[in-house]
Formats: sequence, C-alpha cells, structure tokens
Amino acid sequence: MNDTVHTDIAIIGGGIAGLWLINILQQQGFSCVVIENNELGGEQTLLSQGIIHGGLKYALGGTLSSESESIAGMPDRWRKNLSGEGEIDLRRAKILSDTQHLWSAGSMASRFTTFFASKMLRGRINKLKFDNYPTALRNKRFKGNVYCMDDLVVDTSSLLAALVEQAGDRFLKFDDRSDKIIWNDSGVESIQLAHVNIQPRITILAAGAGTGALLNDAHQHDVAKNINVQLRPLQMLLVQHNLGHRLYAHCIGASNKPRLTITTHDATNGDLVWYLGGDIAERGVDMMESELIAAGRSELNQLFPWLDFSEAVFSGVRIDRAEPKQDSLIKPDNAYAMRDKNLIVTWPTKLTLAPDLGDRVMQLLEGFLPSEKRVAINDSTPRARIANAKWETSFVDHDGTTGHE
Ligand SMILES: Cc1cc2nc3c(=O)[nH]c(=O)nc-3n(C[C@H](O)[C@H](O)[C@H](O)COP(=O)(O)OP(=O)(O)OC[C@H]3O[C@@H](n4cnc5c(N)ncnc54)[C@H](O)[C@@H]3O)c2cc1C
Repeated sequence: MNDTVHTDIAIIGGGIAGLWLINILQQQGFSCVVIENNELGGEQTLLSQGIIHGGLKYALGGTLSSESESIAGMPDRWRKNLSGEGEIDLRRAKILSDTQHLWSAGSMASRFTTFFASKMLRGRINKLKFDNYPTALRNKRFKGNVYCMDDLVVDTSSLLAALVEQAGDRFLKFDDRSDKIIWNDSGVESIQLAHVNIQPRITILAAGAGTGALLNDAHQHDVAKNINVQLRPLQMLLVQHNLGHRLYAHCIGASNKPRLTITTHDATNGDLVWYLGGDIAERGVDMMESELIAAGRSELNQLFPWLDFSEAVFSGVRIDRAEPKQDSLIKPDNAYAMRDKNLIVTWPTKLTLAPDLGDRVMQLLEGFLPSEKRVAINDSTPRARIANAKWETSFVDHDGTTGHE
C-alpha cells in the first residue's frame, strides 16, 4: 500500500522555476516536493544561454522601455546570490562570464554609437579599446565597435546542482505511464506516484511547455480557466570547435534584435562549444537542420573571416520557449505567477527573472502559513535526476567518443 504524505506545497516541474521556488519556500518553513516527469532542467533551462541580463539588450531598439527597467535589478540580485549573500546561496554555481559584450559589425557601427554614449546608458554600456576586446574579435581585420555590458552568464548545470543540493531529497520522478494527478474543483487533490500519494494544500505548476497539458486538466475542473500557455519555437545552433576563444556577446545587425547571440560552453573532450541564438535561431525554425547549419557556417565566416571553422562540428537543437498566452506573440518582461483557488500557475519567462518569480509567488501565498511537517519520502519512490547539458551530449560519436568531423 502507498504511503500518504501531506505537504504544504507540491511544485510540478523541475526547471529553474521549480528549483528556485522550492528553495525559497522551504526557507519560509513550507514543506515542499518537486514532481518531475523527465529530468531536472532538461527542457528550457539547460538549453538556455544562461545570460542574466538587466534588459539592456532591449536598448538595441534605441530606447529603454519601462518594462525593461523592471528587470534592471536582476543581475545585482543574482550576483548577491552567487557570492552567498542573497536569498539562496549559489556559491557552487559557476559564473561563465562576468560581462556580456555587444558588437556592431561594419556599417552598423555608427547607428548605435550616439545612443550607447547617451546619459541613460552611461556606466551600463561602455565602449572598449581594442586591447580589451574579447580575443575572438581582437583582430586587425575586425571593423566595428565593441561594448561591454554589466550582464553576466551562468553555467546552468552547476546552477541546477546548487539549487538541488540545498533543497535536499525532495525531487520525485513522475512516470507518465503509471502515475496520476487527481484534480478537484480547487486544484490538485493528490499526486499518486509509485509507493507514495502526495496530498498538497497548494500546487504550483512550473512545468514550462508542459503546463499547457496540466492546465487542460485544471480547466475541466473549472480551475485557472483563463490561463493558457504560448510557445515560441526556436532552432538554436551548437558549434563545437578547438579554436579557443570564449565569447559571450551579441552581434547587432540591422534590426533591433541581436543578429547573433553567442555563449561559450565546455564540451566533455576539452573543446569549446559556441551556442548560437538570436535572430538566426528564430529564422532557423522554418529550416531543416542542414539548412540552419549552412546558414550558421556562412554567418560565422562572414563575421569572423580570420577564424577557420572548417573543422567545427555543427548541430541544431529545437526548443520552444514557454510563456503565458498574451494577445500577441510579444515577449513578456516580467515573471508570471497567477493563483486560482489552490493552484498557482507560473512561467518565469526568463532564467534571469527567477528571483522576480519567487517574489510574486510569495505575494500570492500571503496569509498561507506552513502547517505540514516535512516528512521523509520512502526510498522506493523514484527520484528525478539532473539532466546533462546538450554540449556534454550532442557531439558523442557512435563509438562513444567525441570528436570532429
Ligand atoms: C534557447 C533558449 C535560450 C534562452 N536563453 C536565456 C537566457 O540566456 N537568459 C534568460 O534569462 N532566459 C533564457 N531563456 C529562457 C529561460 O530558459 C526560461 O524562461 C526558463 O528556463 C524556464 O524555466 P522553467 O522552469 O519555467 O521551464 P523548463 O526549464 O522548461 O522546466 C520545466 C520542467 O517541467 C517538466 N515537466 C513538463 N511537464 C511536466 C509534467 N506534466 N509533470 C512533471 N514535470 C513536467 C519538464 O520536464 C521540465 O524539467 C532561454 C530559453 C530558450 C528556449
């Protein structure tokens, strides 16, 4: 027979949202579990570029909106956590870069110079001298300007490990074939897993794209009727090479969105992986992987004619960004948390906004006090593991080794 475990809060979904929330909720004395039907972080979180930004990239449009000001405080808040002085001790998480660069190639250079030098951005975006350029751009053939922003880039694998370690043994694996969520007209009545029934007082949906299907069930019980998910598909590009050059930068093109956003990660064989997003990933949605790879090669050859990518290995990866449904497909600029009865529905909308999500959920819980004791969950209930990042797994050859084409 299954144990019944009463818990204050069950969180469904173990990406950054679920992991952040369990940490701050447990600190407030709530007993919690995270329910994950695959691997922790294995969807958007480990496929994100890990950029913790304060909204400055929106300045590419030439203005800073009030919405973008609202995330301006996030990098400092993360920095506090990463140095062990914030709400969650993230000292174990690795910072990949303390700054993010911005470069404008050739003819685009002048368009942005005046704006970036403006009073509003002074101190937040600085123009660099050639000697301080990131090594990938420090070449005499490079024509353009390079700026430095005070955004940072975190290694998402070690971030997840830090969050899991501090929350303790509370990450339970949900088997879609045999486990069940039982709904009633206030939200989730129970979650029936192998060898344990979880009975939460409140349930938080933090399942990213998977929240859509969970909401379909909630809607059938007249819960959270007006909340729906919207998906924005992307096809990102991974480029494994042995050229060195760790680059964390946005390339500015003709539009107000980055033409290319590059972050750098470590492959298991010591090579580097440049992870390419930005406009190319949006255009990549309608391309076959081979077309995207050809477009990516041509883009890199154009932007870095002094680097030889002929030996590099390219791979496309498709992923949907999941956000609350809005009137148009514009990007939301705040974390989203909405409560109906005993159900809270969340989308951080950006990794950056996890602390904002935490604040919003705490507000929705005002007056809800911890009452259940945290009890151990029996060992026979399977646990969810942390997923591997794509740069650790994408380039494994058939013989089990990694290597170049
Ligand atoms: C390509 C890409 C790049 C990005 N880059 C950045 C960036 O640089 N900076 C930034 O701030 N943001 C970035 N983002 C956005 C950011 O990654 C997401 O907003 C954030 O990771 C979402 O976290 P989440 O926990 O809501 O969702 P996810 O990370 O998707 O996690 C949801 C979890 O729920 C689980 N799940 C799904 N259904 C169920 C179910 N029925 N039962 C149990 N579990 C379930 C999934 O397996 C998954 O583990 C990027 C997003 C993408 C796609």
